[in-house]
Amino acid sequence: MINQQLINPKSIVVVGASNDIHKPGGKILKNLIDNNFKGKLYATNLKEDNVQGIKSYRNIKDLPNVDLAIIAIAAKFCPQTVDILTKEKNTRAFIILSAGFSEENKQGAELEKQVVKSINAVDGCLIGPNCIGVLNQNYTGVFTTPIPKLDPKGCDFISGSGATAVFIMESGIPNGLTFSSVYSVGNSAQLGVEEILKYMDQSFDPEKSSKVKLLYIESISKPKMLFKHARSLIKKGCKIAAIKAGGSEAGSKAASSHTGAMASSDLAVETLFRKAGIVRCYGRRELTTVASIYMHKDIKGKNIAIITHAGGPAVMLTDVLSDNGMNIPHIESPELLEKLFPGSSVANPIDFLATGTAEQLATIIDFCENKFENIDAMAVIFGSPGLFNVYDVYDVLDEKMKTCKKPIYPILPSLINAKDEINYFIAKARINFPDEVVFGKALTKIYNTPKPALEDIKLPEIDKPKIRAIIDNAKQGYISPAEIQGLLDAVKIPRVGEAVVKTRQQAIKEANILGLPVVMKVVGPVHKSDVNGVVVNVNDDETVGKEFDRMMKIKDTTSIMLQPMLSGTELFAGAKYEPKFGHIILCGLGGIFIEVFKDISSGLVPVSKQEALAMIKQLKAYKIIKGVRGQQGIDENVFADIITRLSALLMTAPEIIELDINPLLGKKDKIIAVDARINISQISDINSTFSDY
Ligand code: ADP
Ligand code: MG
Repeated sequence: MINQQLINPKSIVVVGASNDIHKPGGKILKNLIDNNFKGKLYATNLKEDNVQGIKSYRNIKDLPNVDLAIIAIAAKFCPQTVDILTKEKNTRAFIILSAGFSEENKQGAELEKQVVKSINAVDGCLIGPNCIGVLNQNYTGVFTTPIPKLDPKGCDFISGSGATAVFIMESGIPNGLTFSSVYSVGNSAQLGVEEILKYMDQSFDPEKSSKVKLLYIESISKPKMLFKHARSLIKKGCKIAAIKAGGSEAGSKAASSHTGAMASSDLAVETLFRKAGIVRCYGRRELTTVASIYMHKDIKGKNIAIITHAGGPAVMLTDVLSDNGMNIPHIESPELLEKLFPGSSVANPIDFLATGTAEQLATIIDFCENKFENIDAMAVIFGSPGLFNVYDVYDVLDEKMKTCKKPIYPILPSLINAKDEINYFIAKARINFPDEVVFGKALTKIYNTPKPALEDIKLPEIDKPKIRAIIDNAKQGYISPAEIQGLLDAVKIPRVGEAVVKTRQQAIKEANILGLPVVMKVVGPVHKSDVNGVVVNVNDDETVGKEFDRMMKIKDTTSIMLQPMLSGTELFAGAKYEPKFGHIILCGLGGIFIEVFKDISSGLVPVSKQEALAMIKQLKAYKIIKGVRGQQGIDENVFADIITRLSALLMTAPEIIELDINPLLGKKDKIIAVDARINISQISDINSTFSDY
């Protein structure tokens, strides 16, 4: 676990320090010196007694005791070095910069194991190997530049890639984004992104800790740890934005059901982020823009005033905000208009023309802050055509940002004409958003990210003993229609009446009991329609008999199922087990819609009624569910109830690795399952499936 020796070391040794600042062992020592590390600093080097003015030891055994070792020597020498430091020098924190470990080959993986073993033996902590290091308020233990402005309220940033960490900082720093800490976890041999986030959660201090956390993740090995601490931090008032790169589709290709094919592991990431309340970003610029917005005051609603001295950017910002669910409310104020030059407009965007002054900007902001109750935040666009300087405008902006309760976002586009003024503005600890559309997208992304899901959720009552009995007695693989019926009945998901028959006579008899017209389906093949194994609207005994004979000849068919012919909107609900994440429930419109539009919503089990409703509302087809143009809709509460019942089923029977109910036929307040497939298997982490959600 992370310890104080890593966070606030009293002494640091750079093992493999160099006078050549183009080497990691040279640059990191320089960074530590240049940024005034306050504790004791040592170096080791086989040939030197002094490196960059710091006392250096040729033999590591001669070192005094030291809290933190930053190691920049070849991988093969690391195990022995770490062993000596842990056993003889009381070193309890390690940052290994060197590559050549598990990322390279088997021998490297072995070296990594040895290092971790020595460090674990003394309860120490390890960052890396194969990383750029760590920097925080206490020391700048990275071998790269730039070193960001270190600000206790800046971002805490954890990165699974060292180079990407540098590029992300480079994306944010020029606009004024500051950092509180940066952790590059490299191979995550002992501590990964998840463990660091856990530490940030457990050590969170509402007064002192930064409230903005940024993550760059390449693989999530402990999704539940990530979820638990992300949600916990967000509940404590933090904001988290993350990039998860590399959504592999490979796993989903093998799946045989619709749900399986659509529920890729990337969907699992997406679903987990949403449940935790993490804003998911897809690029560096987006991540640092979201972070920059989070560095401003909290926005209380979705109503934005766009204050501008140029039409174009205001129109573009209006478009992006309103296209993504935010609002640019109409403003009427002759009183304000009177204070601006003729030709100005206050309707929102508030355009005070190219000749607009700093004083006018102050007046507009005051109106938005105090008089316009339908305004939650202000975006101020102010550049320069290069005729005169705009220091006075940026001074007003800075002043108003201090005093106003509503957030003000500065969009200062003139990176060349107003370069000096923008730098002057940023030097006042301000952040610039150079591009209004990038800003607008990030703002709406934050706005559209839901709050974390509730912890204590009430799931519907279901017949658990019956479910367990069916599952425990079922064979692995796709279970029988009778077993499916049993499970649906145990969780009270309404299903169509049905009969399974093996002879022609039985078929005709049962069809009449169920009531003609009926639907006939093969039992055996997984995808029945694909093998011509579904006939709808069978209206007389003769056709029942004829279809029976035909269908029994279809490959893998063991019997025929009969159902009454129902009507209604086709809906779909399904679930898939994703290793380590647990079960993902999906819903959408059924039938052909799902194949063509891929319009599905997802939720991680357990799914509460509230989450289920949110899933339904998120569908593009939500309007169809509500009922469009005179067509009767479906009660979304009934659909949401079915989703929570599925959630309860999966919690009782985690062995269900795939489940597909497609379609459910929905009419007003009745939704009835007419086709279901359930695949069961023993899963390895069965006992921990839901413990952390
Ligand atoms: P599969 O998915 O294996 O091809 P289904 O049982 O889903 O087989 O049947 C295919 C289609 O037939 C459904 O999507 C639905 O449109 C229609 N269908 C199936 N059962 C019924 C039923 N009882 N009433 C009305 N239509 C049905
Ligand atoms: Mg089907």
